Amino acid sequence: MPRFSRALALASTLTLGLSACGAAAGDDAGAGASEDGLQVMTSFYPLQFVTERVAGEHAEVETLTSPGVDPHSLELSPRAVGSLGSADLVVYSAGMQAAVDDAVASQVGDTALDVAPAADLLETGESEEEHDEHEEGHDDEEGHDHGSEDPHFWLDPERYGHVAETVADRLGEVDPDHAADYEANAAALVEELQVLDEEYADGLAECTSRDLVTTHEAFGYLAQRYDLHQLGITGISPEAEPSAARLAQISAQVEELGVSTIYAEPILTDAIAQTVAQETGAQVLTLDPLEAITEDSAGADYLEVMRANLQALGEGLGCS
Ligand code: ZN
Repeated sequence: MPRFSRALALASTLTLGLSACGAAAGDDAGAGASEDGLQVMTSFYPLQFVTERVAGEHAEVETLTSPGVDPHSLELSPRAVGSLGSADLVVYSAGMQAAVDDAVASQVGDTALDVAPAADLLETGESEEEHDEHEEGHDDEEGHDHGSEDPHFWLDPERYGHVAETVADRLGEVDPDHAADYEANAAALVEELQVLDEEYADGLAECTSRDLVTTHEAFGYLAQRYDLHQLGITGISPEAEPSAARLAQISAQVEELGVSTIYAEPILTDAIAQTVAQETGAQVLTLDPLEAITEDSAGADYLEVMRANLQALGEGLGCS
């Protein structure tokens, strides 16, 4: 089958297998890519964005997670799983989406790229120093559980830049003719991420509060990089419903710390944030974990939404 028809077939297969909450990015597959371009499948938005930017005109990039679907709890139809085997490259992050990990293990051989090592994931709730000690003492550790690593690396621009470079290296191996383009595209994106990083460092340097109260704990890497303290209500995966006891505990902490802002997310219901806000008199602002871009997003892509997030952080934490 020629590549172009194969792309359309793949796109329609995937769309059937996904929720009707929004069009998958694959719906317009083929719209501008040349017939001999690569077919690259990515597992969710941050990997789609970074791969699109690095691949430029040389690939058709699709994503398995439709906008509006919680990527953590993504389910794949058998047909979507089967179709993964036909992509030239599958970009995913092990530990983020169980369904994708399983599908890659069963359907994809050496055409899979796991970006988690490049992102240097930390155990949940772990700081950088603890991580270094931990690496040295690794042999003594029993039952080292990689399932407890925090997958939200893209909210740290530096980690995200490392992932861009890794995607470029891999694309260059798959398609050596354009290796220089991939490298140049990654370098351009890394430069943009460095500008963003400086804006964050400047914008969050002087704040009246450094306590970041969020619903799901997606902002650990961001908090670590900019010296904030994240207090998550529901934990690392947004699925978990907090107990009444947990809500009471968080409300008490919010009052004790004098926190004025609870951050809710655009995709998930903000009922949890509203409950804690009502309990404590705090306001609710939106902070986007960037797991998808939807109509409710505060910008059209990663960089725009990260800047909207910075504004919300400055407003809620009283940064000058
Ligand atoms: Zn998440």
